[in-house]
Amino acid sequence: TNLKKYFPINAGLMKRTVGHVKAVDGVSFTVAPGETLGIVGESGCGKSTTGRMIMRVMDSTEGRIIFDGQDITKLKGRGLRNIRTKFQMVFQDPYASLNPKMTIREVIAEPLLVNQVASGKQVVDRVAHLLETVGLRPDDMLRYPHEFSGGQRQRVGIARALALNPKMIVADEAVSALDVSIQSQVLNLMVDLKKEFNLSYIFISHNLAVVRHISDRVGVMYLGQMVEVSPKSDLYENPLHPYTIALLSAAPEAKRKEKRERIILQGDVPSPANPPKGCPFHTRCPRVMDVCRIQRPELREIRPGHFAACHLH
Ligand code: SF4
Ligand code: MG
Repeated sequence: TNLKKYFPINAGLMKRTVGHVKAVDGVSFTVAPGETLGIVGESGCGKSTTGRMIMRVMDSTEGRIIFDGQDITKLKGRGLRNIRTKFQMVFQDPYASLNPKMTIREVIAEPLLVNQVASGKQVVDRVAHLLETVGLRPDDMLRYPHEFSGGQRQRVGIARALALNPKMIVADEAVSALDVSIQSQVLNLMVDLKKEFNLSYIFISHNLAVVRHISDRVGVMYLGQMVEVSPKSDLYENPLHPYTIALLSAAPEAKRKEKRERIILQGDVPSPANPPKGCPFHTRCPRVMDVCRIQRPELREIRPGHFAACHLH
């Protein structure tokens, strides 16, 4: 609720704070049990920062994070460690996120040992079971990450994320580093695991087609703000926000399917250190009006379940 992350900009010898980069600037949304919320947007829109704040690996400047009815925004120490077992993260580069000096067994067992939920033979059995669950051979557990392909390494990353029976997984560009043919295999695995373990996902990606494949609902971020949130089909078929419309028109897949005219946006995304007043998109919006330059539009429900932050609606 109203999540914000402002990074101070320090300058001069005294490192005086001269401003702030507003990486995330007042984002609110919910994710239901068993649901996948996709968060889509261009690089620098604040989607990864939002994911990290929710996982409590980065503190928020403002706002609240409620998990299963509990306010976890300010949790510390043991309380934080306990709650952290319930949500896990899967990263873009499976190679960078796996320690090359550890066997696959050690990689997957680490969260079990750190949290003291299993020991000895139990650990080995659990690792074998997790490897099977993600479509890898238990016999491979004594191998090292470099002996696996990119897709297999991402399966290892997912097995590790599942080790503690989490309720929610935040996947940040989880398939972006993989070949297109492998992407759909890993996405399908994640869909199957979601059903099997009743997981919720927050699936962060710049790729509209990938988000469409896996999500139930989709949120679109621009310059640190959520500009549209909607059930997937309604977002892709009837987008409301001019930014979403432009994004979809530029995606090759959507263009073929929905026969949209391609909209080329003028100019660059403004700097989050100096965001425009009013609507964050007004400097590039093809439909900008006077009010857009003065007043920030609120995210409002325009159709059932379909929210947009735009003065047109
Ligand atoms: Fe465009 Fe105005 Fe809507 Fe912003 S509020 S997206 S500038 S029409
Ligand atoms: Mg990112």
